[in-house]
Amino acid sequence: MSVLVVAPGRDVSQWVETLKSQHPGMNVYVYPEDHDTEEVEFAITWKHPRGLFKNYPNLKVVASMGAGVDHITSDPEFPEGVKITRVVDEQLTSDLSEFVLALVMNHTRHLSAYKHQEKDSNWNVLKYCRNSDMKIGVMGMGVIGTATAQLLAKNNFKVSGWSRTEKDCEDITSYYGDNSLDDFLQESEILICLLPLTEETNGILNKELFEKLPKGAYLINVGRGEHLEENDLIEMIDSGHLAGAALDVFKEEPLPEDHAFWKHERISITPHTASLTEAESVVPQIVENYERFQDDEELKNLVEQDRGY
Ligand code: NDP
Repeated sequence: MSVLVVAPGRDVSQWVETLKSQHPGMNVYVYPEDHDTEEVEFAITWKHPRGLFKNYPNLKVVASMGAGVDHITSDPEFPEGVKITRVVDEQLTSDLSEFVLALVMNHTRHLSAYKHQEKDSNWNVLKYCRNSDMKIGVMGMGVIGTATAQLLAKNNFKVSGWSRTEKDCEDITSYYGDNSLDDFLQESEILICLLPLTEETNGILNKELFEKLPKGAYLINVGRGEHLEENDLIEMIDSGHLAGAALDVFKEEPLPEDHAFWKHERISITPHTASLTEAESVVPQIVENYERFQDDEELKNLVEQDRGY
């Protein structure tokens, strides 16, 4: 049996080295090096070429190299019956939560705004905002969303979460299901998107949704670029309904040089860097799943493919 690593454009040498050291004797190939497609039963991937996996008749498991799996589930030719796993990593989760806290503090303490004022030698004191005065809504209360909401609550923000199913988290108000979305949005002076990208969540950050946020609300999108209707965001900021946005993910990455977001004074851009997936941290759980697969045991962090995450 062979393991195939498919991550075009990425240097995966550290991944291969760690895989081999964690499981000596593992037969690893890096796509597109020469390999026997019939021998591959387990693949590890980030953004594989569309349709690739249908050429592997004995493939059983595809492991995502990151927390999201939309890069796999969006392949219309992904073979039926092949299991998908994802990464659940403590380091990645705390990295991302801290990054979001930094974006929130940047907004509430006006750091970007003061940076803009600095250009004009403008000594203008903006309204002070304490954490305890600010209501934050986290869309997606999964592994990362919950950790982020908890970190924000620990920092005295008033936090709500929105998910498909009800959550019981100390100091966090749980909203769940489509029927509660409007109530959740009304409570969100800062809206943080940490949803997975699925058919249901694609384009969810749109004008209709923004209109339900309080006037002056701020958006932080660290989910996926496809969650956001880009023109709607610009329209809602320019109309004054939204105060601005911090965006880490984009429909097209890298964000094209001529994209309107770059020049917009109220939009902060980071290059999909809210967290880092490190081979040393993540490979052990992939190796554990590989061994579970070999022993015919249930896999960890399995994706429910009918719901898309
Ligand atoms: P999880 O699968 O653990 O959580 C997903 C959450 O979204 C769950 O709470 C789920 O609800 C909720 N959800 C899904 N669909 C809906 C829906 N239709 N309506 C309401 N709630 C919904 O994911 P993670 O927390 O691990 O990761 C979330 C996303 O963060 C990833 O998919 C990825 O896109 C993004 N990400 C971004 C990174 C970056 O660097 N910017 C890095 C890592 C991840 P329920 O709990 O009820 O099932």
